[in-house]
Amino acid sequence: MDVIRLLSDSIANQIAAGEVVQRPASVVKELMENSIDAKASSVQLIIKESGKQLIQVIDNGQGMSPTDARMCFERHATSKIKESADLFNIRTMGFRGEALASIAAVAQVELRTKRAEDELATLIKIEGSDIKTQEFVQSPQGTNLAIKNLFFNVPARRNFLKSNPVEMKHIIEEFQRIALAHPEVQFSLFHNDIEIYNLPEAKLSKRIVDVLDKSYRDQLAQCQIDSSFIKINGYVGNPQTAKKARGEQYFFVNKRFIKSSYLHHAVTGAFESTIPQGSHPFYALFIEIDPSHIDINIHPTKTEIKFDDEKAIYAILRSAVKQAIGVYNLTPSIDFEA
Ligand code: ADP
Ligand code: MG
Repeated sequence: MDVIRLLSDSIANQIAAGEVVQRPASVVKELMENSIDAKASSVQLIIKESGKQLIQVIDNGQGMSPTDARMCFERHATSKIKESADLFNIRTMGFRGEALASIAAVAQVELRTKRAEDELATLIKIEGSDIKTQEFVQSPQGTNLAIKNLFFNVPARRNFLKSNPVEMKHIIEEFQRIALAHPEVQFSLFHNDIEIYNLPEAKLSKRIVDVLDKSYRDQLAQCQIDSSFIKINGYVGNPQTAKKARGEQYFFVNKRFIKSSYLHHAVTGAFESTIPQGSHPFYALFIEIDPSHIDINIHPTKTEIKFDDEKAIYAILRSAVKQAIGVYNLTPSIDFEA
């Protein structure tokens, strides 16, 4: 007797959700990245009970057609790539077409979305991958996604969530990373109706101060290098602002936050003896590189990345930071107007 069968879409989506949706913060990341990809200039994040009750992202981006509003919940459904060659030229945050399918498999979701050319918005309610209703409603241009009761149908996952303060800390981390990467976008964050952040559109230096630490205000040194194959841009904190705790070290590659202990070493090494051992300098460094020289398709959350020539990037980064710290000594103030 044959025993192999194809899994239903909703089970397949639930399994995929295990990779993409680990906790409320993963939903925050996926939804906010979608808003950025939809070219929103304003993104509001509304959280209740550290995301266990509600994660809502409201943007003023491109919105979706009524058909796309259904399609976006299908697995491997994306507007961002078409053919395999596109995988080597990714300029959007998303491209896997998995996030919304995964999220809808493990939560109760309400989507309101409207394009500029449409008179009415589409409202879709979907629960555990089942579309419950689709109707036309009044709503402003853009997309408003409310994710309720995450893991309502996966009790093991729900019980595995950490305490509210811990889950909220992860949410704030994701919010901060995206807000730092897009100073040209206005962001706000509310938790249980209390405003945590309201960030006006600003220059990067002001955004860093607004998001992280007011004491960085006159303490940032600009890094800028334009080599033939990468551009580096951003700021490092002057050595006196180095902190005992880690956490305010940011690399962005083509605006995507990434983790790299190798490149971290390049930056901290450049500080040499200007900082005490065991303390960590602030940095937010943006690497711009032709997407064909990197592979971001290593892990579903895309925080790891492979570079063609990591050694060269290490060397360039190190000299960019050294130069910045030197420049800091010469011109210790920068202009903070938005
Ligand atoms: P991906 O981002 O990898 O394409 P997602 O599951 O996150 O996959 O989203 C599927 C599709 O839904 C996107 O490709 C996009 O076309 C559409 N979409 C999702 N969120 C938004 C949004 N906020 N505004 C406009 N379109 C969106
Ligand atoms: Mg996406």
